[in-house]
Amino acid sequence: MKILLVEDEVALSNAVKKLLEQKGYLVDAVYDGLSAVDYAEISPYDLLIVDIMLPGLDGIQVIERLRKSNLNTPVLMLTARTAISDKVTGLNVGADDYMTKPFHSEELLARVGALTRRKGEIVLNDVRFGDLSLNIESAILSRGDDSVQLSHKESEVLKVFLYNPTMTITTELLISRVWGDDSEATDNNVEVYISFIRKKLKYLKSNVSIKKLPKIGYRLEVNEA
Ligand code: CA
Repeated sequence: MKILLVEDEVALSNAVKKLLEQKGYLVDAVYDGLSAVDYAEISPYDLLIVDIMLPGLDGIQVIERLRKSNLNTPVLMLTARTAISDKVTGLNVGADDYMTKPFHSEELLARVGALTRRKGEIVLNDVRFGDLSLNIESAILSRGDDSVQLSHKESEVLKVFLYNPTMTITTELLISRVWGDDSEATDNNVEVYISFIRKKLKYLKSNVSIKKLPKIGYRLEVNEA
């Protein structure tokens, strides 16, 4: 799997490149829009990761140019949190998915995995575990035909589990990912949201449960019938 990374912030580019290489992807990094077009047109990539704010051509122009020359490689764009119009424009000109900065490494890997598996198709943004499926965009949790809307926080908490399905998730990790390192959130906040999610798992009659490991944290489990 070969990825072209187009990001002008060198530190971020280096971090993303390292992360992807650790997972076995081959990564070429370029730092401006014109180089991106040159590289993408010359060598075949399985995925392009394109920042929107770039020197030279911006990310939107890069995507537009490549699509006009019939390049169908999936594109994941990186946008600033506030730039909603960029996301819409980017998707309209042919990006397949977007991610807002700053992002967690697991989210990046999940999206890269989804885009490289379903080459050229629209990504539905579903993360699955056991009999569950969570739609990341809508925060709707489903089991078969039954579904339930999660609140934003519930979805953020559950995502930490779904992106690390085999890991024991510590309370500290949940607080850091969902509430932020500077927050005043405590074990109690986490416990409350875990209990909300458990109620919804029960409502869906899911075979997935969140097991508490005293003094350590939590783990997602599939209960075989
Ligand atoms: Ca940038």
